[in-house]
Amino acid sequence: MRAGNSAKTVKEIRIDIEKCTGCRACEMACSAFHAKPRYSSVNPARSRIRVVTDEINDEYVPVRAGNHTRTECDGRHFYQLNGKQYGECSFCRAACPSRDFFIEPDSGLPLKCDMCEDEPPLAEPLCVTVCQPGCLTYEERRLEAEINEPEEREAMENGLQSLVNQHGIEAVIDNLKRLSKGQ
Ligand code: SF4
Ligand code: SF4
Ligand code: SF4
Repeated sequence: MRAGNSAKTVKEIRIDIEKCTGCRACEMACSAFHAKPRYSSVNPARSRIRVVTDEINDEYVPVRAGNHTRTECDGRHFYQLNGKQYGECSFCRAACPSRDFFIEPDSGLPLKCDMCEDEPPLAEPLCVTVCQPGCLTYEERRLEAEINEPEEREAMENGLQSLVNQHGIEAVIDNLKRLSKGQ
């Protein structure tokens, strides 16, 4: 097993909930950025950021899509925000079989925030750029990380296996082909 220390850049989006107005510009920008071809359509269902909206209490909470999970979790959390209790899955970042959020509507494959990786790179993620109220801000910081190649490979293989288990090998191969063609 080969392991060593290496510095890497961690990209972060800070979320100041107090400043979110619920305008959902971030959802629209994210979906347009990830449309095929790029910017060809706007569909918040394809967005990797979702604004949990509670208009009655004037609460808006942006949540960026995180990792996919194949099974619902057993121990869940209830959140209390300004005296109101929110559902146990409300602010969860996972693409999870228990709900439709962060699931690509056409393919059924899970969506995950990729920080708008592009070539050439964007100055900052698009959701940050369009967030006029300043709820989202972008930061980069250097992190000394221990790199463990076998463990990273195992994590990738586990991720692929869980996609195959959920969607079938044909759907996964079709999407990998599409990605390799940049479609
Ligand atoms: S663009 Fe900013 S203010 Fe508007 S919903 Fe998204 S995070 Fe909130
Ligand atoms: S959506 Fe999140 S919190 Fe809810 S069951 Fe799935 S993983 Fe758990
Ligand atoms: S960083 Fe990019 S991919 Fe992630 S939520 Fe924002 S717009 Fe979407």
